[in-house]
Amino acid sequence: MRVHVADHPLIAHKLTYLRDKRTDTPTFRRLADELVTLLAYEATREVRVSPFEIETPVAPTTGIHLSTPKPLVVPILRAGLGMLDGMMRMLPTAEVGFLGMVRNEETLEAHTYANRLPDDLSNRQCYALDPMLATGGTLAAAVHFLAERGAHDITAITLLSAPEGIALLEEELKDLEPPVTLVTGAIDERLNEHGYIVPGLGDAGDRLYGVI
Ligand code: URA
Repeated sequence: MRVHVADHPLIAHKLTYLRDKRTDTPTFRRLADELVTLLAYEATREVRVSPFEIETPVAPTTGIHLSTPKPLVVPILRAGLGMLDGMMRMLPTAEVGFLGMVRNEETLEAHTYANRLPDDLSNRQCYALDPMLATGGTLAAAVHFLAERGAHDITAITLLSAPEGIALLEEELKDLEPPVTLVTGAIDERLNEHGYIVPGLGDAGDRLYGVI
């Protein structure tokens, strides 16, 4: 797995406000949205494109457009939904599939409770969105899910990642056929005993949508 930490002062600045517990939900949502847009630049560096003939007012020229089949963006419910708009702003013609995964707070294992994805993902470039790579169980399960349906390559985009989660992904995905890339805003220190990223930002779903 390739890991890319988006090392940019604007990303670090926005992450700082996102982490701050005084940041209210509307501001948190806006910052998460802006961060994804910045991370999307890195994450789509290898999106497939095809040549496209156009005419400018001055001369004909060859440009590019996104190849078909279009990329598939997969927010992992529920917190990944908070990253969808920012990603779609950068890839407006992408298609969207949904994967509902929840972790058991005792075993910390991921369980799929919903899926709205094409059965056949062959030749599709997939972008999985999940704000927090904590234990890695959810993202590993999501990546396997996409790989089993034939995804051509998979890029996971997270706002924050824990070293433990990255290690688990490296281990769990080492024999996977499609290439996997992780693009993240920062790698934090560690997980605490409750599986939260330290220093992290708390529960991303709760901060995006309120506590339910
Ligand atoms: N999920 C979150 O929302 N926050 C964490 O710190 C870990 C997992």
